[in-house]
Amino acid sequence: VILHIALPTPLDRLFEYRFDGLEAPPLGARVRVNFSGRPMLGFVAGSSAESLLTNKKLKRIEELVDARSLFQAELWQTLEFAARYYQHSLGEVLSQALPSAMRQRERSREPGIDYIVLSAATDSSALHRAAKTSAQGALIELLRFGALSTIQLDAALPAWRAAYQQLAKRHVVERFRVSQFDPPPINHSRPSLNVEQQAALNTIHSKARYQAYLLFGITGSGKTEVYLRAIQQVLEKGQQALLLVPEIGLTPQTVQRIRERLAARVGVMHSNLSDSERELCWQSALAGRLDVVIGTRSAVFCQFPDLGLIVIDEEHDASYKQMEGFRYHARDLALKRAHLRGIPIILGSATPSLESLRNASANRLHLLTLSQRARAASLPRIELIDLRTQSQQDGLSLRAEQEIRAALSAGEQVLVFRNRRGFAQQLQCESCGFVPHCPRCEQALTVHRKAHALKCHYCGYQQPLHSACPSCHSEQLAAIGAGTERIQDALAQRFAEWPIVRIDRDAIRSKGALEKALARVGDGAPCILVGTQMLAKGHDFPKLTLVVVIGCDAGLHSLDFRASERLVQLLFQVSGRAGRAERPGRVLIQSHQPEHPLLQLLFKQNYTEIAQHLMHEREQTKLPPFAAAAMLRAESADVLRLQEFMQQARALFPVSQTLECFGPMPALLPKRAGKHRAQLVLTSAERGTLHQAIKSWRTALPALTRADLHYSLDIDPMDFS
Ligand code: ADP
Ligand code: ZN
Ligand code: ZN
Repeated sequence: VILHIALPTPLDRLFEYRFDGLEAPPLGARVRVNFSGRPMLGFVAGSSAESLLTNKKLKRIEELVDARSLFQAELWQTLEFAARYYQHSLGEVLSQALPSAMRQRERSREPGIDYIVLSAATDSSALHRAAKTSAQGALIELLRFGALSTIQLDAALPAWRAAYQQLAKRHVVERFRVSQFDPPPINHSRPSLNVEQQAALNTIHSKARYQAYLLFGITGSGKTEVYLRAIQQVLEKGQQALLLVPEIGLTPQTVQRIRERLAARVGVMHSNLSDSERELCWQSALAGRLDVVIGTRSAVFCQFPDLGLIVIDEEHDASYKQMEGFRYHARDLALKRAHLRGIPIILGSATPSLESLRNASANRLHLLTLSQRARAASLPRIELIDLRTQSQQDGLSLRAEQEIRAALSAGEQVLVFRNRRGFAQQLQCESCGFVPHCPRCEQALTVHRKAHALKCHYCGYQQPLHSACPSCHSEQLAAIGAGTERIQDALAQRFAEWPIVRIDRDAIRSKGALEKALARVGDGAPCILVGTQMLAKGHDFPKLTLVVVIGCDAGLHSLDFRASERLVQLLFQVSGRAGRAERPGRVLIQSHQPEHPLLQLLFKQNYTEIAQHLMHEREQTKLPPFAAAAMLRAESADVLRLQEFMQQARALFPVSQTLECFGPMPALLPKRAGKHRAQLVLTSAERGTLHQAIKSWRTALPALTRADLHYSLDIDPMDFS
């Protein structure tokens, strides 16, 4: 048989290999092959009796790794679809859908922990007579008080394996396996649903086949409660559920809360786990040892014996889009999977993406609304502080300072939001104006005072903090702009009596640091939380009543067409942290431009109205969701080479009445890590037309590339950076 193998290479085609079996292995089984002299794991993607090449030239499959397909029919179809839709090599798509441990390692272990136990209830003296060596005797001795895991045995008796094998042959001991996902104790307390929650749930239950819902509920309206009930019902039918959450939304608290509430075997999958932990979760789900998987983007590829529901929390979140390699959108692939499986899927958000809102108005998504907060009377009141009329120090206006003091004195908690870490945005010499820049990205370096360094937030470059200007030797160096580190210092000076907890990527480095920080806030005592967007989502602190937003003006002027949508969503989410329980919440937004239409709309706390405003802009400019878009990105250390490639690529693109091409233009970050970056934006009102055009166009691109130039194609790009 000739097998057609999908290999994890950018080459977008299948490769033929000879297989010495009577019949072809199933689609999706892994095989080991030799690919241009290198061993590689590939996937069976087809077969035929004859080859186009003469049989002699065909290499043999070296080993069939799996007897069965690793992909259920529905996931296989989804991945084939994804390879076509995202115009990406099938081999890389299949490979990305597996936990990384399974992309390289050939045999995967059965997940779980092995225990060794004494078999029969014979008394120990009889057992000791069974021991033929002292190692066997020692093993029996260790096991007398109960089963031990292989890990415990490795520590206690390094030579136990040989002894175990002899004893097992005589049925004195045996091995059994325990899954790591046994259910925790049940926590029965759960709120009774309010009218809107109940209505949403009833609608979801009314249909067991495919239906996509958009659960549009304001912050604190109890969306999670609806997810949990919907999942519960699926579990009661003996089915499983998949819950996707944004990258930073997966806190241990969330997981714990869900574990307890559902009293189910919950597996967790996110990027901070080790490869083998991720594989354990993936394998356990497939084997039916998990009821629920909660995970970030790549968990969309988890498989279950009988998946009954998919939930995507914060569906608008940008982390669902993979930004390199196989650039898929997890939300969109989840919709495809739900459709192929014929099961319901819930997309939830307080600030839905414009794409989903448009799908809702076209009835592709069934809209469910939660318009009231579950525990509080109302949404927080928003107030704009005009920085042109207020003095400020270290980024904090006098007004904000007074409000913070008042809230703390009243025993409440405060969140100060600044979406920029570090001490200051840049350093500037006061006598000659010199500003240190990253030599590789040409962007101003961020000042990190505690670390005594200047760091590039784009490529990681760093250098020691100057004490004098390298250009004129003046010692008058000013730190300009306030990052979270500086704001924390400033707050510490003014509010010495209260604890200040900072949460950003610098402060939360070590494992468990985030949990510790959140626990301090969770106990409810008055304190100030300072942080970046790590704080914007998901957290539910009942005592938090005041949110202060610092420095959001930059987002109003970004060139990225999604920037205003992102900013609005972020500000809504942050604002949504205030006043979630009994005490009413307030939000202070500091701005130099309080009259900006977006801030004015935000002030009204009406996301629908803002979304309509943004939709209108997108419609005028013919951008998504009113057009399909794709982007060709390229980078090279040689700027001329880059320009030449982009010009040639552009010249080949079949621009027409229905197909537009913008660029080439420099990326928003024109240089990163020593490479110049440029892009070409392709759009059409007709998705099919665009994808068809790209399909033939991209086959011409490899001929245009040259050494030291990399390009990539992004279908449905999420940013222009
Ligand atoms: P969302 O995800 O919509 O922001 P959550 O699900 O986190 O909101 O709910 C906000 C708070 O309201 C939580 O503390 C939750 O336990 C509580 N809650 C949710 N539903 C109800 C309800 N029906 N009755 C009382 N409290 C509720
Ligand atoms: Zn100087
Ligand atoms: Zn840099």
